[in-house]
Amino acid sequence: MTFATLGLIEPLLRALETLGYQTPTPVQAQAIPAVLAGRDLMAAAQTGTGKTAGFALPLLQLLTMEGPKVAANSARALILCPTRELAEQVHASVAEYAQHLPLTTYAVYGGVSINPQMMKLRKGVDILVATPGRLIDLFRQNALKLNQLQTLVLDEADRMLDLGFSEELANIYRMLPKKRQTLLFSATFSDDIRLLAGQMLNDPLSIEVSPRNVAANTVKQWVVPVDKKRKAELFVHLMRKGRWKQVLVFAKTRNGVDALVDKLQGLGINADGIHGDKPQATRQRALDRFKSSEVQILVATDVAARGLDIEDLPLVVNFDLPIVAEDYIHRIGRTGRAGNTGEAISLVCADEVNMLSAIEMLTRQTLTRKMEPDFEPEHRVPDTDASGQVVKKPKKPKKPKASGGGGKRNLGKWVDSGEVAPTEPSIKPVRKVPVFNTGPRKKK
Ligand code: AMP
Repeated sequence: MTFATLGLIEPLLRALETLGYQTPTPVQAQAIPAVLAGRDLMAAAQTGTGKTAGFALPLLQLLTMEGPKVAANSARALILCPTRELAEQVHASVAEYAQHLPLTTYAVYGGVSINPQMMKLRKGVDILVATPGRLIDLFRQNALKLNQLQTLVLDEADRMLDLGFSEELANIYRMLPKKRQTLLFSATFSDDIRLLAGQMLNDPLSIEVSPRNVAANTVKQWVVPVDKKRKAELFVHLMRKGRWKQVLVFAKTRNGVDALVDKLQGLGINADGIHGDKPQATRQRALDRFKSSEVQILVATDVAARGLDIEDLPLVVNFDLPIVAEDYIHRIGRTGRAGNTGEAISLVCADEVNMLSAIEMLTRQTLTRKMEPDFEPEHRVPDTDASGQVVKKPKKPKKPKASGGGGKRNLGKWVDSGEVAPTEPSIKPVRKVPVFNTGPRKKK
């Protein structure tokens, strides 16, 4: 199969040739004809499998072939992304695909001055890539109207519909014309999000090119058990031993990122960090320097977990495991992209056993553990497997609590020696789902 047989027009084929894309990836092969046919879409595909071109190419074609010229302060297509970096990256890809087309593209996001964005929108843009908060600001300040919108794309849709964005998305939905095409793209879809997405879309086509919730099999994954207080030391040890050249490291908190960067820099290691507290320009600069190999180690919170495309990144290290198991798939999806191989190493301490278990259950695999000599943990990480079982060591009996004067003693529950502790609940965030107006939709 070729891009030409999918029905793409010549200016797009020329751009793809320049980029060296020869054959469509599976998600592209399915999504491109469906989008060209005007269908609503719900597409699940692994990270790094070419989702962006899957929606951008047919979208660009439809905008070129159909519809009126864009009006002032308007957009004909809107691509929503969860993070500023992803918005920037998606826009860069869209602009590359559009290089021979008479279309305008632009990206807006927070953390930078709104005025130049307002100026740029005056003439209108065909494709606008945006993060939700800034989009709403621009709309409220009358810098953007959405009545000309033909297509809405939600990239990393599960995150977009997730807790942090539910209200903003509900607001955005109220601004959109009912008659439009809607495309949802994501690597992971939980069942409740699927249900909700099903209600938002008009007769959607569901595309699933790979088993749900699995990481790309081009990524070799393993776990190194270690005590929490020795993680930084172990990281430096592994880095030197493995002669790591370029590593993306994920830490749980902003403070955790800063502490690790300080420690590495203190040792003369070329490291930088990105997290939500840093100004956008600093975040982008750190990322750009990492991409161009000027920075060797980039430590990040989950702002960098999704969608970022770093060419030939060989290694991702989870300094801390993510609280939401699905983020593990996104994090390690930064490596092993576009058919390359990659490695993902997780430094896991006893406190994180439930997270490990949730990840193994979600990805339906038991992660290999490799003990590092001299770093064997004092606090053993209980055994886990893909079934969600956590096999704990026998617990000490709890001390009986004195009850409030009634004289009765609560002896507490304890697990007898040799007995297997009950399965711990897997860590699943409680997700608040946005309420959308799913009233009658006009027929297209
Ligand atoms: P994405 O999943 O959209 O972030 O894409 C991951 C990487 O694959 C990017 O570097 C794209 O440029 C590249 N890519 C996407 N589609 C193709 C294709 N058909 N052939 C070769 N590379 C591709």
